[in-house]
Amino acid sequence: NSRIVLASRPKGRPSPSDFRLEQAPVPTPGEGEVLLKIRYLSLDPYMRGRMSAAKSYSAPVEIGQVMEGGTVAEVLESRHAGFKPGDIVLSHSGWQSHALANGKQLRKLDPATAPVTTALGVLGMPGFTAYSGLLTIGQPKPGETVVVAAASGPVGSAVGQIARIKGARAVGIAGGPEKCAFVRETFGFDAVIDHRAPDLAEQLAAACPDGIDVYFENVGGKVWDAVFPLLNTFARIPVCGLVAQYNNEGEFEGPDRLPVVMRQVLSKSLTIRGFIQREFIAQRPAFEQEMPRWIAEGALKYKEDIVEGLERAPEAFIGLLEGRNFGKLIVKV
Ligand code: NDP
Repeated sequence: NSRIVLASRPKGRPSPSDFRLEQAPVPTPGEGEVLLKIRYLSLDPYMRGRMSAAKSYSAPVEIGQVMEGGTVAEVLESRHAGFKPGDIVLSHSGWQSHALANGKQLRKLDPATAPVTTALGVLGMPGFTAYSGLLTIGQPKPGETVVVAAASGPVGSAVGQIARIKGARAVGIAGGPEKCAFVRETFGFDAVIDHRAPDLAEQLAAACPDGIDVYFENVGGKVWDAVFPLLNTFARIPVCGLVAQYNNEGEFEGPDRLPVVMRQVLSKSLTIRGFIQREFIAQRPAFEQEMPRWIAEGALKYKEDIVEGLERAPEAFIGLLEGRNFGKLIVKV
């Protein structure tokens, strides 16, 4: 069993030495358990939080523990009546090649219905994050303007496309010309802006002539600064993630802008609401009905970025926090 454990807690940007590749015997399933061979590992920005001991909505990974993560796996051996060898399942087995699981933690996948990797992306946690956060908090209406950054990633790309399905205008923000072109041409956003452009704020203002009604917050930082003055009265801001600041734990530079922000929250009646996708679990059945249908109809497209080899997971994960991925980042184990 190859596995990657947390070797040390990063200060700032994680480095490869914060991870350690180890070998261990393949475990034997007990009564009611299955032995899994991990086929695909999902890499997600939240994992940066698990590497830190800072208090969060979930417990951190301990030093020496296998890094956490969603996985698609094949059942190798089963001592559980509900599973047989060869079954493909969604599990949360982490950064390793083999794992034990009891049936409760597993969901069977049907490779004939959809490519199994989609269970980690568009039809899985990130897709559901976009769907539930946008529709519950953002509530886009026909003709409104919805802005989202990290627009080539699994959350942002789905946010913009669902906004368009609901009749709104989608304005994306992404890093670099290649991602911007993809977001406009393949994901069909109405406008796309490169956040590395020195005149980001001016370009965003030009792309949103009627202001911004929904800002789906994925990144924070300078994107938030560009968005903030453009927010309309009654704008809704689902706060989904702040990936621009995950690597700077606690240290923030510059003057205190909270009074300015709060004044606008009041005078423009803004709704700013953070969420963790699992809070919206009641919407899972609606998501499971609508999302595959939108994909089948061609109304919603997705992009995956598949890296080969478990040993490359640390480097790929470090790159994810800096935008080196292009689409939903998945490791083929
Ligand atoms: P992505 O695959 O989109 O990867 C993150 C992207 O963030 C990078 O590719 C990069 O894209 C962009 N980025 C990184 N740094 C910056 C920066 N300084 N300024 C602007 N953009 C930056 O990730 P996901 O789609 O998986 O996740 C998107 C967000 O959603 C994250 O914040 C994540 O934490 C959050 N999330 C929240 C959940 C919840 O329940 N609340 C659940 C799942 C995800 P680019 O090259 O375009 O800059």
